[in-house]
Amino acid sequence: MYMVSIDRDKCDGCGACVDACPAGILGMADDGKADVVGEAYDCMGCETCVATCPNEAYTVSEV
Ligand code: SF4
Ligand code: SF4
Repeated sequence: MYMVSIDRDKCDGCGACVDACPAGILGMADDGKADVVGEAYDCMGCETCVATCPNEAYTVSEV
């Protein structure tokens, strides 16, 4: 399975990753930054979030 992590200090809240994630597990938290809001184990490891984020906030690793 895959584990996605977000360096939230790098997130500027653009929201692009939320729309891009095919698994629909990303969302915006109350503080206006991206977070994993769905089931983390649904991550498919596609790295679309990595490619989409302009601030290189995402890391996806196989665990
Ligand atoms: S790797 Fe793919 S499925 Fe996983 S959080 Fe990123 S965009 Fe979503
Ligand atoms: S694409 Fe990057 S900067 Fe934009 S909301 Fe997602 S994590 Fe934040």
